[in-house]
This record gives sequence, C-alpha cells and structure tokens, in this order.
Amino acid sequence: MALDYYGILGVGKDASDQDIKKAYRKLARKYHPDVNPGDEEAAEKFREASVAQEVLLDPQKRQIVDAGGDPLDRSQGGMPGGFGGGGLGDIFAEFFGGGGAGPRGPKSRVQPGQDALLRTRITLEDAFAGVKKTITVDTAVLCERCHGDGSANGEKPVTCQQCGGAGEVQSVQRSFLGNVMTSHQCPNCRGYGEIIQDPCSHCGGDGRVKKRRDLTVNIPAGIGDGMRIRMGSQGEVGHGGGPAGDLYVEVHTQAHKIFEREGDDLHLTVRVPMVDAALGSKVSMTHLDGSELELEIAPGTQPGQSITLQGQGMARLRREGRGNLYAHVDVQVPTSLDRKTRELLEQVRERSDAVTAIHDGQTEEASVFDRLRNRFRI
Ligand SMILES: [Zn+2]
Ligand SMILES: [Zn+2]
Repeated sequence: MALDYYGILGVGKDASDQDIKKAYRKLARKYHPDVNPGDEEAAEKFREASVAQEVLLDPQKRQIVDAGGDPLDRSQGGMPGGFGGGGLGDIFAEFFGGGGAGPRGPKSRVQPGQDALLRTRITLEDAFAGVKKTITVDTAVLCERCHGDGSANGEKPVTCQQCGGAGEVQSVQRSFLGNVMTSHQCPNCRGYGEIIQDPCSHCGGDGRVKKRRDLTVNIPAGIGDGMRIRMGSQGEVGHGGGPAGDLYVEVHTQAHKIFEREGDDLHLTVRVPMVDAALGSKVSMTHLDGSELELEIAPGTQPGQSITLQGQGMARLRREGRGNLYAHVDVQVPTSLDRKTRELLEQVRERSDAVTAIHDGQTEEASVFDRLRNRFRI
C-alpha cells in the first residue's frame, strides 16, 4: 500500500523542496517527543513526517511516489538505486513495522504454550493389533510451587520502572535525517511491562519448569507409518503458566522380516517345494497377532502366483473391516539332488515323455505331467 507522503506533510504535489522542508519543520515542532513526552500518537506523527520529508526530498523516490508507487514498500522487492546510504532501510523498517512489529504495548506475561512433537517406533505386530505405549516426555509443566504466578510469596507483579509498563523503551537518535526515533523491547522487564520482585526460586519467575514424565499413548490398530496422534494439552506449558499446547506423537513402524505392509494389505512370500506346488499342500504359518494361519496350496500352483486371504490384513482406521493378506508363492527347485531323488525324478521324466507320446489322448495324467514338465523343467 502506498503511503500518502504529500498528505502527511500537508503539501501539494507541486511543492518545492523549500515547501517540503518548511512543512516538515512545522510538524516537527508540533510533534517532537521532547515536546510531547509519552504521547505515542504524537511520536508516530513525528516519525511519519520525518520519513515523508526524506522521501520527497529524494528526486528518485519522489518520482516513484508521483507514479503512484511507494519507494519504501519492501514487499515489492529491491528498489533500484534505493537505500544506498548507510543502512537506512533498517531505520525505515522500524518506522513502518517492516519486520512485522505487532501491536504496541507490553506482552502478556501469561502466554499460551507451544505444541510439542515426539517420535516413537513400534513393531508391525503392534501396528496390527494396536498397543498402549509408555513414552517419556520432556516438556515444560506448570511450576508446582508458585502455580504459574512466578512469585515466591504470591505478591502481584509491579509495574516496570524503566518503561513505565509499556514493555518498550524509545530512544531518539539525531542524524542527518532529523531526529530518528526507535523502539526496543525493555531490557528490564523483557517486554512484559511488569516485574516480579521476589521470583519463585523453583522456576525463576517463569511459572513453569522442565519436567520429565511418562505418558501412556493409545496407538490404535491399523495406524499408518508416520501418522500423528494428538494428545490435547500435553505439550509445553506457556510462560507465566499459560495453557499447555498439544503433544503430537508421530508413530513410525519398523520393517518386518516376513510381512510387508501396503496400505491396509499385507504381503508375504511363502516358499513351497516344487513337489508341493505340483501336488498341492498345506502350509501353516503364524500371523502377526500370533494366531495360526493355514495356506492352501492348490495342486499345480505356479511360481509367483498369490493366494489371497480375505480380511487378514491390517485393520482399517476409518472404516470397518480389514485389508487382505496376499501370500506370494515362491516355488523352490532343489539345487542339488541325492542319488535316490535323482532316480525318482528321472522316472518322472520318463513317465512324462511316455505321456507326451500319447498326448493326443488328453488324459488327466497327461495334463498333470505336462505342467510338471513345462513349469519345473524336470
Ligand atoms: Zn514457580
Ligand atoms: Zn520494562
């Protein structure tokens, strides 16, 4: 937003440098802080006038003003040929709150506390079944000695002498611009405008202390990796015993040796000897919650084929039911054979060749051996 620099000084757009200086001097006499001690509004007017004069006496800046712009508007980025001389930018930032200066006046001694974040690791078994986990938290809690007052004897804080309760102090610097007024946080009260004369020895007047404590967090079944659980008002207690923020527990799941999670589904690989794959078999295995599962390997099961166990996956967090469990079959072919097994397999091959010879017959036997022969190369 462009400031009305002409309006601040009360001059027209055709004002000469002399007119501008004259108008400024008039306003300066009227609003100078020495003339108006403690008058915040006057001080503000004085600052504005100083800046307006500076801008309008600079031909380059005045040109920008005349074009409808604001040479001091920092949101527009770097200004060509702008604040060349000696860090004026910082002074102007002070004037117009370029750094986002908040509302004037002292800070409240009681401040809301901040949220806290904590990370924890769980096993896939815990994510599957849900778990109550004890976590150790290090956050600021309410000082139990002063209950947040910050005072050793319960006395109310007194107004800071240095800033008169304003929380900030002003200083006037004389420079070639005229008098430049700057505000700083009061060093005596750190901006609170009041002082606790006899601070609580336990918290040093802060109203809160760091404390390690154990909390139990309820991790629901089906929680996803990286999800956060919010624990209301378990975060940091604020300055002066202000209300605590929330605590977020970010849950990470460790990788599992056997099961792999994909959304609500689980995957695993089952190794099946080739004979079992050919003839069919049953494989029993232990699920994540310790229950026994039986996998039905159908005769003629192919490598890479998967068996679906409906509803044996992870619990769904926001919906009813569970995902599926997919068992991917890895058919194992023996890498070395003893003499007896070799002989047996040779017999199977001969039989297989014989069956192939009468292949046209399409007997049940033939198809079984075809599969064996083609899939497993025996
Ligand atoms: Zn205390
Ligand atoms: Zn103070």
